[in-house]
Amino acid sequence: MKILVLLLLVLFNGALFEFLDSYTGYEILTAYTWESDAFRALKCGPGIASKEEIDCEELAALMTRHGFNLQGLKKKNFPVLPFPTKRPKEFKRLAAAYHVIFDDLRFFPIPENRSGGHADISYKDGWLEKRSYGGERGHEGCDLMGDTEPAGYYPVVSMTDGVMERVGWLEKGGWRLGVRAPSGGYFYYAHLASYARDWSEGDPVYAGELLGYMGDSGYGPEGTTGQFPVHLHLGIYLRTDHYDELSVNPYWVLRFLEKRRQKSRY
Ligand SMILES: [Zn+2]
Repeated sequence: MKILVLLLLVLFNGALFEFLDSYTGYEILTAYTWESDAFRALKCGPGIASKEEIDCEELAALMTRHGFNLQGLKKKNFPVLPFPTKRPKEFKRLAAAYHVIFDDLRFFPIPENRSGGHADISYKDGWLEKRSYGGERGHEGCDLMGDTEPAGYYPVVSMTDGVMERVGWLEKGGWRLGVRAPSGGYFYYAHLASYARDWSEGDPVYAGELLGYMGDSGYGPEGTTGQFPVHLHLGIYLRTDHYDELSVNPYWVLRFLEKRRQKSRY
């Protein structure tokens, strides 16, 4: 009997792992899954966004299992176990990319206004929507709209610690700031009305620190304003083997950070 059980185990062990691996969706994992459009769209969904902390290994497993779209996922499908046993290196790499995005996140970029009576900001998932200024392109970021208040009203704070990497005017981005977070993510804040101080490249930046004020600068030579409604354009970029700046969708990152919103009076 023992021998029979042993024999059955030997025979079906491979098949069992095969089944588990197909269940975990490992076949879509490659060394560069984290450069794919499916990864970049970052469709985390409300189940992930509502969590207090994000477990990047669990996120990688869920994304792999569910074709990189968790937007319709019910909570009962959490957590998905086991992790893929095939392609562990590729899986680790994917999880590492999620760590770069999520590990340094501390604050939502626009504090909540405690004074009340003022229209709040709004935003939607506008990832890769068409933009035509400066040639046809996809929208690499998320726009937080300043609804009714004028340029210079809404404060913009750093979502992460980091180092100020880029300061100054960009034709498309207007007055922009670019912060490199400790894990390597690049957080890009564009169309500002003004800077909170005279930022220099290399300055340390602290999570929650005032960077500047929301505006409508850009789409022209230095100083151009008023070409579009007041908003903060937020971009998140990764450095990968093949891309210096690989844009990922900030929408669900922002949804996750809504519970980490500073309160101030402005
Ligand atoms: Zn934008």
